[in-house]
Amino acid sequence: MRRPRTKHPASLAFPDIDDLRERLRFRPADGSIHAGDVRMTLLHVPALASLRRELIESLGAEAARGVLTRMGYAAGTIDAELVRKVRSGRSLLESFAVGPQLQSLEGTLRVELLRFEYDPARGRFHGEALWKNSFEVECQDAALSTEPVCWMQSGYASGYTSAFVGKPCLVREVECRGAGAAECRVVGKTVEEWGRDVEDLRFLTPRVLSEEAASTGRARASAAIRRTAGSPAPADELVGASPSFHAACHRVRKVAATRATVLFLGETGVGKEMFARFLHRASPRANAPLVAVNCAAIPETLLESELFGVEKGAFTGAIASRPGRFERADGGTLFLDEVGTLPLAAQTKLLRVLQSGEIERVGDVRTRQVDVRVVAATNEELTTALATGTFRRDLFYRLNVFPIRLPPLRERLDDIPLLMDHLLDKYRRLYRRRIPGFTERAVAALLDYEYPGNIRELENMIESAVILCEDDVPLDTPLLFASIPGTFRRTLQVDSAGRLSPSSESGVEDIAKKIVEAGVPVESLFSAIVERALVEAGGNYTHAAKRVGLTRAQLAYRAKVARSRPTSDR
Ligand SMILES: [Zn+2]
Repeated sequence: MRRPRTKHPASLAFPDIDDLRERLRFRPADGSIHAGDVRMTLLHVPALASLRRELIESLGAEAARGVLTRMGYAAGTIDAELVRKVRSGRSLLESFAVGPQLQSLEGTLRVELLRFEYDPARGRFHGEALWKNSFEVECQDAALSTEPVCWMQSGYASGYTSAFVGKPCLVREVECRGAGAAECRVVGKTVEEWGRDVEDLRFLTPRVLSEEAASTGRARASAAIRRTAGSPAPADELVGASPSFHAACHRVRKVAATRATVLFLGETGVGKEMFARFLHRASPRANAPLVAVNCAAIPETLLESELFGVEKGAFTGAIASRPGRFERADGGTLFLDEVGTLPLAAQTKLLRVLQSGEIERVGDVRTRQVDVRVVAATNEELTTALATGTFRRDLFYRLNVFPIRLPPLRERLDDIPLLMDHLLDKYRRLYRRRIPGFTERAVAALLDYEYPGNIRELENMIESAVILCEDDVPLDTPLLFASIPGTFRRTLQVDSAGRLSPSSESGVEDIAKKIVEAGVPVESLFSAIVERALVEAGGNYTHAAKRVGLTRAQLAYRAKVARSRPTSDR
């Protein structure tokens, strides 16, 4: 029987770290270091300490802690991507160990994992660990803090665990050596399991959103990540924690108080209307109406009367005078979605309103003064429309006073777990379903997918899966990807270990049989596959590497080898 030597249970054993160490590459000739596909850099802890000190002095401890926690969160979600590349098919503990082992490898601290309970089917997670030798304790000035100081690492562990579990998790330092405790001790759970006790979630939320949450009288816990029991998240809530999402939110907050015209730019489905609503709510016009118009959805013949109103008798069918959307938005905000599709005549009228603040109803002789803030959005290449003359240049300059680019979902991968959780919750409330969460392989597949249709596509996938799923069963891959065209589904077949694999084993066996029969040398096979992948990816190394399950560096190396071989050898 084991005699307890410390007050803690024995820590759980991690697998060999060599598979991760191999992913860390130092290339002095190139001036770069990579962990997997991600470029890294070595920083001096004393330099980080001075950065931290300056942040605290210039922003205050609360805001500085938020900045560093979110920086750690982003790092943790990036490292979580390595789990599938390195430990696919291993036990849950061995897969999870990637994060803690990378923390050691990256030199931030050493983790002794004391407790690891993860139930993927129910989406439950509970972990406890000791953190030894944390660099952040060294960053702290000799004057001891009374609060935990391992901010980046708490963010890292929260980001890593959220991406691993596929739902928002919070890792909290309950004791910290930097605050006088004998050692740093952390507890991680899903936000749901923490219940109402999620005060420190505010550090994962950009200030712009926390301020809004406070001003609407909600708990200080984040508006974006809050998931306290029994408090439904508003359906149009903005959800995200990634740097590019923060950047967009900050720009919205900056411009909200002014009456400047704002132009949202971004692909279809990135949530332009939600951002416009957020802008309106954060503006002094919040109590006046927000009127939204999708310019592409209104027939060209009706567009002008819709926007500017119509006088009785202006045309056949105009049996009564009525105000247009501009008049209805008086004192508030008018959101013009897909503004790039406006016909030239309407563009001219819109320009006049923006210049004079006056509208003229169709068929009317007098003008009316309106006080409307215009917010526009476009997913069109407006520059192309400008070049071809289908969009007025002077109107473009009027609209493009304060452009805000909204990132596509593939540029904010860290937000996918938050969005998955938010959308599952939204639709199981709406359809009154009892769905506990996502299967492990569904989490992996959702994190791997590229979302050409952005958030709207993810939302549609989850909504239809919630409708189709049985109660008490976690959402699984086939339901979620039911509507995705065959080419993608083929890449999501399940291998013998129950994991998603890039191709079915039977398919591979068939191909292997043919190759052996034809007597093709393995080396030229490699070259052919790499060349083919590059052709299909239009020469994009990152995409080509993803398709054939190599890192970008491996693919680049293979391509170089292939090209240096004599042609007769291929
Ligand atoms: Zn600590």
